[in-house]
Amino acid sequence: MAIKKVPVKKIGVIERYQEFLPVSEKTPIISLNEGNTPLILAEALHHELGLKTIRIYFKFEGLNPTGSFKDRGMTMAVSKALEEGAKAIMCASTGNTAAAAAAYAARSGLKCAVLIPEGKIAKGKLLQAYRYGAKVVMIQGNFDQALELVKEATSQYPIKLVNSINPFRIEGQKTAAFEICDDLGDAPEYHAIPVGNAGNITAYWRGYKEYRKGNRIETLPKMLGFQAAGSAPIVHNRVIEKPETIATAIRIGNPASWKHALEARDESGGLIDMVTDEEITWAYRFIAEREGIFAEPASAAAVAGMVKLARKNYFEKGARIVCTLTGSGLKDPDFAMSFEDKVASVAPTLSEVMKVIGNQ
Ligand SMILES: *Cc1c(COP(=O)(O)O)cnc(C)c1O
Repeated sequence: MAIKKVPVKKIGVIERYQEFLPVSEKTPIISLNEGNTPLILAEALHHELGLKTIRIYFKFEGLNPTGSFKDRGMTMAVSKALEEGAKAIMCASTGNTAAAAAAYAARSGLKCAVLIPEGKIAKGKLLQAYRYGAKVVMIQGNFDQALELVKEATSQYPIKLVNSINPFRIEGQKTAAFEICDDLGDAPEYHAIPVGNAGNITAYWRGYKEYRKGNRIETLPKMLGFQAAGSAPIVHNRVIEKPETIATAIRIGNPASWKHALEARDESGGLIDMVTDEEITWAYRFIAEREGIFAEPASAAAVAGMVKLARKNYFEKGARIVCTLTGSGLKDPDFAMSFEDKVASVAPTLSEVMKVIGNQ
């Protein structure tokens, strides 16, 4: 019997939203079918907050091919690098950019080098960079120093920089805003998002504005950005020399898109605030344990910030709030296993097992 041919649909973000992207027939599209991530309505969080009059949605970007939203930007950056004749790409990374760059480089045949701040990167991200075959270099310094080195290297050698200061990254990442509008039928009233280098808040704001210009939506959301308290340069209005937080993806003291983040905040009438590691940890556990969504600590910063505002009755009745969950919880196994609920090891008897799980 002949094998039935099932048509394989290509549904990457470039093909889906090409009319909004700087691509042409000449652009070789390097895609892993990124995007098209689910918009999940919160359940328990509404009850927890005692707020039945607002609607909270999670845009779960942890379900992208390498487990973070960075894939949306990387499909663009790598496709354009290839179009421009590049042979290699390079980035500095707190982890997810490295994973995405390495994966799309593998797919395209480009060489890839990633500079990573030593010791401050989640294990899952590091092993992705290695296994996708990138050259991984640990820098005895922080992210900001690594990015300076990448800027120097890519200005002196024929290597393409694929950090979010590469304009094609932002172009690709704005497609997440399009998807949200397509799902909701309009823009939400608020959009909460973690802020590290501030590329993503820039991208979403651009996406919403372009969708309105194209008459796909009628309103624009207020952009709510959240930094970690130990890494909050925008909130404090100064560079943080030694940024600290458990949310390593937003452990950034001098955001590359600082100015654009301020524009997104001010043009939308939103805000950029900060949340403590305790608040991030609470949100991280809540969405996993009560909503069934496992996102990484940086993602939880957006939830923590949104919860803080909700508790102050910031949101008006009927408001829809979308929270971007930027990356998968599987990225950071060490943080996931750092709590009191350690694995219990017992003798193989029912009574011992029941002692641990309790009388259900
Ligand atoms: C990159 C990243 C961020 C921060 O995004 P910026 O564009 O740098 O502001 C937040 N969360 C995760 C999981 C990331 O990978």
